[in-house]
Amino acid sequence: MYDPLELAAKVRALVAKGIRRRYYRLGRGGRWYGGIATADCCGCNLRCCFCWSDYPRDHPQRAGRFYTPPEVFRGLVSCAQRRGYSQLRISGNEPTLNPEHLFVILELADEAGYRFILETNGTLIDPEYARSLSHFRNLHVRVSFKGTNPEEFSLLTGAVPRGFELQMEGLRNLWEAGVGCHPAVMASFSPDDNLKKFKEKLSEISPGMTQEVEEEYLISYPPVLRRLRERGIVPYGRIYQKV
Ligand code: SF4
Repeated sequence: MYDPLELAAKVRALVAKGIRRRYYRLGRGGRWYGGIATADCCGCNLRCCFCWSDYPRDHPQRAGRFYTPPEVFRGLVSCAQRRGYSQLRISGNEPTLNPEHLFVILELADEAGYRFILETNGTLIDPEYARSLSHFRNLHVRVSFKGTNPEEFSLLTGAVPRGFELQMEGLRNLWEAGVGCHPAVMASFSPDDNLKKFKEKLSEISPGMTQEVEEEYLISYPPVLRRLRERGIVPYGRIYQKV
């Protein structure tokens, strides 16, 4: 098993060069959040078995290239303008690995009046990181939990169970710093009772948060299904069929 914080340091060395960050795709459009322009970064500090973006995750030094924050921002805005979007995001892998790079993009989004959705696994958001994020007024953070408890987290990511607590602390830090945020959870591998307990745990951060949980479901990409079979992991049936 690996420690997500130790892996973050190793991956950061491959995907961050000063203010630059490695990306494998800039400016794709999509219907999520009602329409959003997306840049896909390389490199993550988790190894989820259901990840659809595993090549740029596992071979970040071979996927894509380095971009400065203004280059990424221009790619996002050009896509947003073509498609009439007012929202931007970084997705694909873990955007919080290079805060220096991320904060400049968030500043640019604020100045230009775009809403920015930061999709993260939350494990790297300590209190200081959360306070830095609180300065961006157009930011909303979606923390995506990998399972509903430490055991599920460890099964799905192959990481130490403590990583689940890092996710929970990340969400709590954001909430306490006043950053707009909500939890999402991969729920395809969780019995209903575990999901219920997960929501109860979230209510310790804020009672209203249980209403805001976004449930994510496995998408049946063939390589993902093959990986699950190899690892003997069986979903509970809540799956999106790939069409
Ligand atoms: S956190 Fe996201 S990008 Fe990272 S391994 Fe999990 S699903 Fe893939």
